[in-house]
Amino acid sequence: MAEDYDLVILGGGTGGYVAAIRAAQEGLKTAIVERDKMGGTCLHKGCIPSKSLLRSAEVLRLTKEASEYGVTAEGVSFDFSAAQARKQKVVEQLHKGVQALMKRGKIDIYQGTGRILGPSIFSPTSGTISVEREGEENVMLIGKNVIIATGSSARTLPDLTIDGAQILTSDHALKLEYLPASMIIVGGGVIGVEWASMLIDFGVKVTILEYGERILPTEDRDIAREAAKQLEARGVTIITNVDIQADQVIKEENKVLLTGLVNNESVQFEAEKLLVCVGRAANTKDIGLKNTDIESENGFIKVNEFGQTKESHIYAIGDVIGGLQLAHVASHEGIIAVEHILGHQPLPINPDTIPSCIYSYPEIASVGLTEDASKEKGHDIKVGTFPFQAIGKALVQGETNGFVKLIADKETDDLLGVHIIGPHATELISEAAIAKVLDAASWEVAQTIHPHPTLSEGLSEAALAANGKAIHA
Ligand code: NAD
Repeated sequence: MAEDYDLVILGGGTGGYVAAIRAAQEGLKTAIVERDKMGGTCLHKGCIPSKSLLRSAEVLRLTKEASEYGVTAEGVSFDFSAAQARKQKVVEQLHKGVQALMKRGKIDIYQGTGRILGPSIFSPTSGTISVEREGEENVMLIGKNVIIATGSSARTLPDLTIDGAQILTSDHALKLEYLPASMIIVGGGVIGVEWASMLIDFGVKVTILEYGERILPTEDRDIAREAAKQLEARGVTIITNVDIQADQVIKEENKVLLTGLVNNESVQFEAEKLLVCVGRAANTKDIGLKNTDIESENGFIKVNEFGQTKESHIYAIGDVIGGLQLAHVASHEGIIAVEHILGHQPLPINPDTIPSCIYSYPEIASVGLTEDASKEKGHDIKVGTFPFQAIGKALVQGETNGFVKLIADKETDDLLGVHIIGPHATELISEAAIAKVLDAASWEVAQTIHPHPTLSEGLSEAALAANGKAIHA
């Protein structure tokens, strides 16, 4: 059986399904091939379930602190399985929503494993997708254009075998049926920090082992330092410069022993479970890239600024092309790819305008260049920092940890980067993202009237601080 389409999308995650909606809006006959569930990693194994559990952790923390607000909450207890059930309900509701959107857009979903074929009897060019379906006849989808949106999977270390029971990735951690007494987290990046924050709130003993000199190596130094300070203050042990000897892991009943070289000294760590969060690898295995001229680099598919691979009718978007592996980047790339297919002239993504968010406590969010990167790019900079401690709304909220840091070019006043650690940082960052898209100067951010009392005043105060004119500090 063979079907013709204007566009066939391999992978129904955030990148793939958003691209499909835009394509359908524009009248393209569109199909998605998905081997698992529509919604992909973000909906089923990433953003949504982890943020849902983080929300449970937040409610537990706030409930324990309720007396500070004059609220008496006696006999507070926590039921992890109820938190898991709530998480699943959120996921299911959104899953139904995605399925309804596909139906409304008349997008055909093929449940099965897709593989790109080379030139064949179906098409003189490569790009026909063969779909292997369980209990159903295989089908060939002949697309005028193809978008590869197959995403990524958790990486592990060479010699460290993930068993899903004692040695986990975040996929397994999200499905835990009970909380372990202790957890070693290998890797202090975004996933490691979010899990550390959540687990410490749930009462688990947490140790982060980070290979680099600091956790959150891609964040601004001051932000990473503050994050480490806050996590440590809540009881997380953070050990940096650890070279894990993955071949020396010992698994015993109810515990894992792990050896690491710390400053060339061998140290043994032990915990009930081990969570490995050392980055994510592109899902390109067995998707048929060999049948095409598509090029890859370090496992990621190489594309131009519109997502085109070396085969101009085959595009790739999202985690499978590397760069910032974020759901909102994948969906934006999906829209750009579709608009390019349609012959429009979409604006390529400027990486300096992409906000990134960490949903730990306190939250962390940033857009644009860090202080180090600004200097490396040759900018003479001015920096404004403003603490939430001096923001009325932060005091009202009872969340005064953290600050806003704003970096601008000294000569031109161009806004280079904004970095926030503190309450609702992940919401506040959108204002800075708009400022970056509009090429704002720090003075324009300072001149924007921010409502009082709000946490957003931290942004205008940081902009004022960069110009030596902060009001409340
Ligand atoms: P990451 O790249 O953010 O961090 C990996 C960390 O592991 C780094 O700090 C690295 O130095 C460390 N590391 C690497 N090898 C190590 C070793 N041998 N021993 C100890 N530490 C080691 O990767 P991640 O945290 O796994 O996240 C994967 C991707 O998913 C990232 O691109 C991230 O942005 C994305 N993500 C985003 C969000 C969000 O937007 N909130 C949430 C989760 C994941």
